[in-house]
Amino acid sequence: MTVPYDQALSEFEAVIGLETHVELGTAAKMFCGCDTSFGAEPNTHTCPVCLGLPGALPVVNAQAIESTIRIGLALHCDIAAWCRFARKNYFYPDMPKNFQTSQYDEPLCTGGYLDVDVPGEDGTPEVVRVPIERVHLEEDTGKSLHVGGATGRIHGASHSLVDYNRAGIPLVEIVTRPVVGTGPRAAEVARAYVAELRDVLRGLGVSDVRMEQGSLRCDVNVSLNRPGQPWGTRSETKNVNSLRSVERAVRSEVERQAARLRDGERIVQETRHFHEDTGLSTPGRSKEEATDYRYFPEPDLAPVAPDPAWVAELRAALPDPPSVRRKRLTAELGLSARDSAAMVNAGVLDLVLATVEAGAPAAEARNMWLGPLAQAANTRGVEAADLPVAPAQVARVVELVSSGALTAGLARQVVDGVLAGEGEPDDVVAGRGLAVVSDEGALGEAVDAALAAQPAVAEKVRAGKVQAVGALVGAVMKATRGQADAPVVRRLLLERLGVEG
Ligand code: ADP
Ligand code: MG
Ligand code: ZN
Repeated sequence: MTVPYDQALSEFEAVIGLETHVELGTAAKMFCGCDTSFGAEPNTHTCPVCLGLPGALPVVNAQAIESTIRIGLALHCDIAAWCRFARKNYFYPDMPKNFQTSQYDEPLCTGGYLDVDVPGEDGTPEVVRVPIERVHLEEDTGKSLHVGGATGRIHGASHSLVDYNRAGIPLVEIVTRPVVGTGPRAAEVARAYVAELRDVLRGLGVSDVRMEQGSLRCDVNVSLNRPGQPWGTRSETKNVNSLRSVERAVRSEVERQAARLRDGERIVQETRHFHEDTGLSTPGRSKEEATDYRYFPEPDLAPVAPDPAWVAELRAALPDPPSVRRKRLTAELGLSARDSAAMVNAGVLDLVLATVEAGAPAAEARNMWLGPLAQAANTRGVEAADLPVAPAQVARVVELVSSGALTAGLARQVVDGVLAGEGEPDDVVAGRGLAVVSDEGALGEAVDAALAAQPAVAEKVRAGKVQAVGALVGAVMKATRGQADAPVVRRLLLERLGVEG
């Protein structure tokens, strides 16, 4: 049984907490020199250090420290003057050392915040400040592959394989403090936070932040309490891999917990697995306590003590946060607050900016990303940022339209071609033969056919109802599969009907 979301949040208050893991885009792993590139033959990017062989000694990756400090600074955190790594002990086949090198009571960055925009009651953006507890550095695990079963899960598999290429890739964990007081917007705030965080990280250039490839993944903590009562017990939904799922994971937990609490049942502290297909989660393991991990300071690594002068340099060189870039876009390009809110919601703001930076006028860049590209993302069930098209390519399509080489309809086909891997926009135009036809001789036949097919409409136009010509233009466009130059078609039609345009 569940209680509908809105009803649940009129009876209970939700507390949410988000733990976000980001794989850094460093060239080498966290504690060794192994290559981090994706898609190599299994177990070719390994060495004694990341395989945890006896006697191997790790060394901290300075670039990873720098990226983590920059993330901390962008989130308004304090940067530790001195901190250590810790061993988090547990066994897992994809973790060859039998402990994860992480940070525990001495994280590199603490106590920041991220402001996120969520639509208020009247639709204009309102700022919600999400407090950040800590940003720390750790290492990723390898990947298990369960073979021989129908589902790819361990149940029913005949054997399992493990690939350690990912083991030891630097992973930053960004943990929020409990977020309270979001009322009925708990799920929306959670989504907006992850979206904003992703834009911040993308702006810093520290990660490719691709949720569907797992370089950005989120654990979603939710608890409910009755107003005036202490916070409830939280559940933690693991590895939520899209923005939409972040929102759905909060919603489904609110609905599930509200029903249990209403029936006087307890919420157990547990991890849960989110299922993309149903939007629901199922219980995982009951949650370990920190003491189960027997954390202790890593004896093989020197402490990290970033020079304050270096931290100040990194701070001075931070890029503008997305909120500032958004304001600049709004002001310089004459877009309304509502427009930029729409772009934030569709996850295309940074893409629009980049398209403008590649030379497209703002309005056209906006129309492309909120129109055909947002639709393509929707159809494929991915984020617009994850579509296989670059802002520079979108800018080129816009340029082809404004030069008259393409119509809006043809531009869509060019975009489809780029998304289908047919190459650059110009390659698609050539490959699919998509140039606009404005040659009057070539269009004459289609114009005559349209007039012959719709004599009643032709008569209306002749009688002075000039706007009726639109139906005939439409027919010609259809017959030429969108390739006709519409103003030329209109002029030809009116000439043939003996009417002044
Ligand atoms: P763990 O690794 O055990 O999950 P963390 O401290 O890393 O613990 O993360 C816990 C997350 O849950 C944090 O984001 C925290 O703010 C959040 N949290 C803590 N208490 C609650 C609660 N009662 N309801 C919802 N979220 C909570
Ligand atoms: Mg956790
Ligand atoms: Zn290695």
